[in-house]
Amino acid sequence: MTIDQETPHAELGVIGGSGLYALLDDVTEVRVDTPYGPPSDALFLGEVAGRRVAFLPRHGRGHGLPPHRINYRANLWALHSLGVRQVLGPCAVGGLRPEYGPGTLLVPDQFVDRTSGRVQTYYDGLPLPDGTLPEVVHVSMADPYCPGGRRAALDAARDAAWEPVDGGTLVVIEGPRFSTRAESRWFTANGWSVVGMTGHPEAVLARELGLCYTSLALVTDLDAGVESGEGVTHAEVLKVFAGNVDRLRSVLFKALESLPADRDCVCSHALDGLTTGLPGVVSGA
Ligand SMILES: [Zn+2]
Repeated sequence: MTIDQETPHAELGVIGGSGLYALLDDVTEVRVDTPYGPPSDALFLGEVAGRRVAFLPRHGRGHGLPPHRINYRANLWALHSLGVRQVLGPCAVGGLRPEYGPGTLLVPDQFVDRTSGRVQTYYDGLPLPDGTLPEVVHVSMADPYCPGGRRAALDAARDAAWEPVDGGTLVVIEGPRFSTRAESRWFTANGWSVVGMTGHPEAVLARELGLCYTSLALVTDLDAGVESGEGVTHAEVLKVFAGNVDRLRSVLFKALESLPADRDCVCSHALDGLTTGLPGVVSGA
């Protein structure tokens, strides 16, 4: 592994667990500073099928950052500043239906925000440290995930004989605690599919920068309202994630390979006609 600060560049990004960058060949480690502070870790740049990819360990290496303390703004800004325009965001989730047991891969098409207190916008009316003042911007989140990215993820899973669940609602809770049984049953009664802790504000911030963002939700456990045992433990989550990380990595690589080179989707047009006031954040760029 080398440290290279000379004009690092990547077109695709993955925000995920530390098991994902470790097997890439010729990884270049790049430290990126942002107006919002440092991202979770260095970014690891490599190639997948001839395309430049930046990996960012969401929780930092060693898993030191709990979901509510992740600097989501810095993470997405760092990827954007390297040239990344399409992001895949694998995450561990709990299943809210009995049929979504451990090992299920769900590619959500909606999310519900049940977090609290997380900074979820670049357009908060506050100046950056250099005095830059962002404009007031309201982006559409009607369809929060990239249709092209979702297609690539679903096709990649099917190619790997891992039949995915196409669509569903990811409810994002504040954490770091897991849900009570009552909360979990309420989520299920609302028709929501899986529950996680990191999907928001990642998708929102990506959209605010005009990035494509696709969530790949790996079910590691049945949530408290669905299972009848003692409730999930973090150790069980890690064990199931580790048991699936090889095939998840291969699905991610395949999806990266097939992401469209030219974007023409709701995400790429999110900033059309808008002035953001943020350096480098312009429509279609
Ligand atoms: Zn898109």
